[in-house]
Amino acid sequence: MNCQKIIEIAYQQVKEMPSEGAIATYIPELATVDSDYFGVCLTTNKGEQYTYGDAMIPFSIQSIAKVLSLSFAISLVGEDIWKRIDVEPSGSAFNSLVQLESENGIPRNPLINAGAIVICDILSSHLKNPKTALLEYIQKVANNSEITYCPSIAQSEKDTGYRNYALINFLKSFGNIKNDVDQVIDLYFHLCSVKMNCCQLAQTFGYLANKGKQPQTGQQIVSPSQSKRINAIMQTCGFYDEAGEFAYKVGLPGKSGVGGGIAAILPNQYAISVWSPKLNARGNSFRGMKFLELFTDATQDTVF
Ligand code: GLN
Repeated sequence: MNCQKIIEIAYQQVKEMPSEGAIATYIPELATVDSDYFGVCLTTNKGEQYTYGDAMIPFSIQSIAKVLSLSFAISLVGEDIWKRIDVEPSGSAFNSLVQLESENGIPRNPLINAGAIVICDILSSHLKNPKTALLEYIQKVANNSEITYCPSIAQSEKDTGYRNYALINFLKSFGNIKNDVDQVIDLYFHLCSVKMNCCQLAQTFGYLANKGKQPQTGQQIVSPSQSKRINAIMQTCGFYDEAGEFAYKVGLPGKSGVGGGIAAILPNQYAISVWSPKLNARGNSFRGMKFLELFTDATQDTVF
């Protein structure tokens, strides 16, 4: 069976299931999105592309962008970033504060909010104009100069980001934020506000399926060894307290966002993205998880 057919069958099966979950409302701007959207795109390293559903509608990629900020920090600073962040799964919610106290302000990993905020601080220390440089980096990885931040989502996060303000101030009290708190949190909110459609997102993640090299441009975004490590972190930490479940059911390294998107890769083969805004109790796309489970069950090709 060909890839397009497998995508269509899995998509239809999920669409027929009761649509469970709820759209994220704690960022008011995210709550304005039609919760029925459901799109998929798969791009292979060789350049084939398969799409289905609402694959061309831009959405807020939210925490999926944390993989891109991590890549940028690793390529700028290398292994030294691990002096300030660990690489262990948290087993906790993405915005949890509980481990930070007992672990002296060292976030468990760079894909939870606390870890991504420290990454934003590292970027702020190394870049003259971090907001511009980060966007340019994302555009390079995406091979698309039209990707932008969404000012209304960044503002909405700022207006209601009480937990993120708590996290950054807590981190600062441990000395793990070196720059001005307001500037760093502004960079973090902008990072989370990036908008892409499913096809742009799958294209963006192609480098992690291709040993760090952007499949379209041939540019080496991160080294093969760094790509291996980023994929390992996605596998163990990309879905917060549901990372085990995603590995168990889907079997691919991936990353979710509260906008309802998921990006995942099969090394040396493809990147896939799925978007459906309703989230399960752990903040991951309900339909996105189900779709990818059915998809890899059908292809029988995963990292396991
Ligand atoms: N911007 C969101 C937040 O900081 C990101 C969370 C997510 O996508 N899991 O809460």
